Amino acid sequence: MLILFNHDLLSRDEATIDIEDRGYQFGDGVYEVIRIYNGVFFELEAHLDRLERSAGEIKIALPFNQEELKANLEKLIEQDPVQSGHVYMQVTRGVAPRNHPFPAQADPVFVAYTKEYETEPSRAPGRAVFTEDIRWLRCDIKSLNLLGNVLAKQFANEQNVDEAIFHRGEWITEGSSTNVFIVKNKTLYTHPANHLILDGITRRVVLSIANDLGIKVKEEAFTKQDLLESDEVFISSTTQEVRPIVEVDGVRIADGKEGELTASIHAEFTGRLS
Ligand code: PMP
Repeated sequence: MLILFNHDLLSRDEATIDIEDRGYQFGDGVYEVIRIYNGVFFELEAHLDRLERSAGEIKIALPFNQEELKANLEKLIEQDPVQSGHVYMQVTRGVAPRNHPFPAQADPVFVAYTKEYETEPSRAPGRAVFTEDIRWLRCDIKSLNLLGNVLAKQFANEQNVDEAIFHRGEWITEGSSTNVFIVKNKTLYTHPANHLILDGITRRVVLSIANDLGIKVKEEAFTKQDLLESDEVFISSTTQEVRPIVEVDGVRIADGKEGELTASIHAEFTGRLS
């Protein structure tokens, strides 16, 4: 495994994280995951823009510009080739004696490495559970602080289902690591991209596909009841692409099979990969 550590390519043993790295102690940093298909990054620029935005929102100045980062990532997959997988990257505020306020002097620490998938992530029709969204109110920032998401996914795992779908009161926000869509009367609904959800890159691709396919889209919040009574439910993410959800909290969605619009959106998604 090769690690892109700031500007250098290191072996895993050479790449060490300081005990006082603020990412380690405070979760004080942001991250991205970019899918690699056939050795090529998918939606690279959108992910790098979002990384820059997330970092900016927590006032971390990235130690490179986008062109430099792109060149470094290309070097990484040249030296450590990946056919189908992803690159994970994170940047933290840096190393400083433990104290909550930003340190007067700290250099951001950037780390990236790839993962080749042994098996492709499943997109078989999945099941989900609802869970109250207890996260902070800046879910638009792709922060390293993932405790709310981790606890939710663990809750789903313990119930042998694939995803936990967050709700604030009656209102659905997103999944623990995915965006959530429903279809009702041929209209596609998903939560607006505000501070309550991550503006998923796959979500944007789905909306662009829906637009191309002439599907009516409403970026509007919907309730748990709306979801349970919908015609189709699916989730989207970099790793899971577009995945149908056919049961939530033990309630079957429509006929319990992947819906028509979900299938056509996924087919179009696959078409965009080549
Ligand atoms: N919401 C959350 C909370 C996530 O963690 C993710 C995955 N990173 C997504 C949505 C989907 O985002 P993307 O399509 O950019 O992977």
